[in-house]
Amino acid sequence: MKITEVTAKSILRQHRRIDSWFLSRYGMNLFRGCTHNCSYCDGRAENYYVDGDFGIDVAVKINAVEVLSRELDPGRKRKPMKSGFIMLGGGVGDAYQPIENKYEITRQVLELIQHFKHPVHILTKSVLVKRDIDKIKAINSNNRAIISFSFSSVSDELSAKFEPGCSSPSERLEAIRFFKNEGIACGMYLMPVIPFISDTREMIEDAVKKGTDAGVDFIIFGGMTLKEGRQKDYYMNIIQQQYPELSGSYDQIYRSDKWGQASGEYHTAIHAVFKIIADHYNIPVRMPLNLFQDIVDENDRVVVILDHIDYYLKMSGNRSSYGYAAYVISQINEPISSMKWNLRHLKGIGPTIAKVIREILDTGTSSLYNQLIRTHYANHY
Ligand code: SF4
Repeated sequence: MKITEVTAKSILRQHRRIDSWFLSRYGMNLFRGCTHNCSYCDGRAENYYVDGDFGIDVAVKINAVEVLSRELDPGRKRKPMKSGFIMLGGGVGDAYQPIENKYEITRQVLELIQHFKHPVHILTKSVLVKRDIDKIKAINSNNRAIISFSFSSVSDELSAKFEPGCSSPSERLEAIRFFKNEGIACGMYLMPVIPFISDTREMIEDAVKKGTDAGVDFIIFGGMTLKEGRQKDYYMNIIQQQYPELSGSYDQIYRSDKWGQASGEYHTAIHAVFKIIADHYNIPVRMPLNLFQDIVDENDRVVVILDHIDYYLKMSGNRSSYGYAAYVISQINEPISSMKWNLRHLKGIGPTIAKVIREILDTGTSSLYNQLIRTHYANHY
């Protein structure tokens, strides 16, 4: 392992629009590289420009706390920050990978987030996050903290093969119980499921069942991307060593898409399986409104609810233009309530969606959205 200490000019990254999967408005990478070394990690892909041997080498942004304390300081800003979760994790390095034990940068970042009273959403595959329960509880009492763990399966055996540096799934599930007992909301990101290995009905059901038993508030599901180049070469090498009989199957679903997306048929098939299971366990498949409605501003609330409606409709095989409407609203800077009666003039917002938006502005939610979540709906939207 080679650790390089680097300095960064900026740390906080503002998203161009709210992320409806994580509800984040801001994100950051405190490390570049990750010794969790998941074989499918897309941080390996060339477009992230992570130097060195991914999985072994890590660059640590040693001035992150100093830079971030300036970036979060409202006294240094001309405009107040957008309200919304600051996301810690994902990207090109887990915020709780082993080197965090030595540097404690993530812990100090949580102190800043607590000090400036922002909400935080942490996504990790390490139970080291339990170390920071004091800070997480303090943030949650000021504002809100959500702790999410990602899983490619809940099999400790598979995880040892595909995620050799991570806490085992059993440990992650135990950590979910720990945080729930402390009154902290938790999510399970069941992504990426590993094609032909952890995407079977039995494996997905095992994960959903164990996640709901542990008390997660929601489960977000997703497949694996495999970009040509470093990421695909590394991953396929592991498959050839461990599951040589599966190599050919990957060519059938990954057809050199620029973003490494699997084919639409495969995507539809695994989501259909997940939907049946999620319905059976009655678990929200998007972050529930009660966890974010008081955190985001009115435009972002509309964007997220429209995006979530889009997801629920498409998941059930319906056509939907709600996702495009969410994009249109996300491009508007003025408060959407000031345009409440002119929404129909916006491209992509017809009378039905305009009515849904007005309902969200008036009540904070939407009856269609609530109906979809309850999953008791007919296929006529
Ligand atoms: S924990 Fe996340 S960032 Fe780290 S190697 Fe695994 S997928 Fe990549």
